[in-house]
Amino acid sequence: METFTQSSLVAFAECPEKHRLSYIEGGNGIKPRVVDLKMAAGTEMHKAVFALHRGIRPTDVEQYIRIGFAVFKKSYNHSPQTLQDIEVAAECTIGAMYGYKKQWLSRPMKLQFDKENIPIDFDMEVHGEICRFNGEIDWMGNKNGHPVLVEVKNTADISQKFKFDVEMSPQTLLYIIGYYEQYAKKNEVVLTLFDYIRKPSIRPQKGESLQQYMRRVREDYIGRPEFYFHRAYIRREAKDLLRFKQELIALVRTHRFVSRRNLWYKNRKACNARGRCQFFDICAFGQTPGIMANFERKKMQHEELAKHVTTHEEE
Ligand code: SF4
Repeated sequence: METFTQSSLVAFAECPEKHRLSYIEGGNGIKPRVVDLKMAAGTEMHKAVFALHRGIRPTDVEQYIRIGFAVFKKSYNHSPQTLQDIEVAAECTIGAMYGYKKQWLSRPMKLQFDKENIPIDFDMEVHGEICRFNGEIDWMGNKNGHPVLVEVKNTADISQKFKFDVEMSPQTLLYIIGYYEQYAKKNEVVLTLFDYIRKPSIRPQKGESLQQYMRRVREDYIGRPEFYFHRAYIRREAKDLLRFKQELIALVRTHRFVSRRNLWYKNRKACNARGRCQFFDICAFGQTPGIMANFERKKMQHEELAKHVTTHEEE
C-alpha cells in the first residue's frame, strides 16, 4: 500500500526529484548528515511558540532554547564561524520569543492552546487502490470556539508573495483532511493559522560586539512586534473538503504515474524558491563522492513517522 506523509506530499508537489532523493534514493531516501542551522533555528522557534502557548514561563522557554542550540552545537564538529552563527541564532530566537510573547500572548486576543500530538491516519481509495495517509499534528489551538491548525513560519520577509506562496501550498492539506475525517464535528469550521515570524532585520554595526548586537536584536523584537509578527487565519469548512480531496487525489495519481514510469523530473523553479534546496549540490554537480559524503541513508522511508520532525528549510 502506498503511504504518504505531509512532508512526502509537499516534497513531491515542490519537485518530484526532491521526493525521489528524500524517499527512494539508496533504498529509503537520503538526508544531509548535518542538520542545517536555519532548519535547527526554525525548529527551536517552533518549539518556543508551542511552549509559550502551553503556558510555560518565558524565562523557562529561554532556557529550553539555550539547551536546544547547545545540543545542536555539540551535534557536529562545526567550524568556528558556524559556532558563532549558532550563538547569534540562539539569541535571535530568544529575542523573537520575547517579542512574540508581547505581541500575541499578552492580550485577550490570544489563541488558546487546545491539544497536542494529534495523530492523523486515514485511508483513501485513489483510482482503485487504497492509499494510507499518516502523520501527526504537533498542536492545535482554539479561537472563539473554532479548532485552529497552527503553522509557524520563520521567514526573512513577510511579503505578500511569500504569504501567497505559503498559503496556497499543500502544506496543511493532509492535516486538514485528516482532521475533518477523524475529529471534526458535523459542519464544524476549522481555522488554519499561518503564524509568521520575521528574522532579525538589523545587522551588526561596525565595532559592535556580539553581545551588543544580540541585545539590540532582542530590543528590536520587543520594540517593533508589529514589524516582526503577522498572523493570517484562513477559514476552512466541510464544503472545502471536497476540493482538498480532489487535490490530494490528483497529487497521488501524478505521483503514481511518475513513480511507476521512473519519470522523476526536476522542477528547477523550486531549487531556490524558499531557501536553497538541501539537494542543490547533488542536482547541480552530480553525485560525486565528496558531495555524497555530506549525505546519509535514511533508515526508514518515512522517518518523520518514527520521529516527528518539523522541517523549516524553506524559511
Ligand atoms: S535542487 Fe532543485 S531540482 Fe534538485 S531536488 Fe532540489 S528542487 Fe529539485
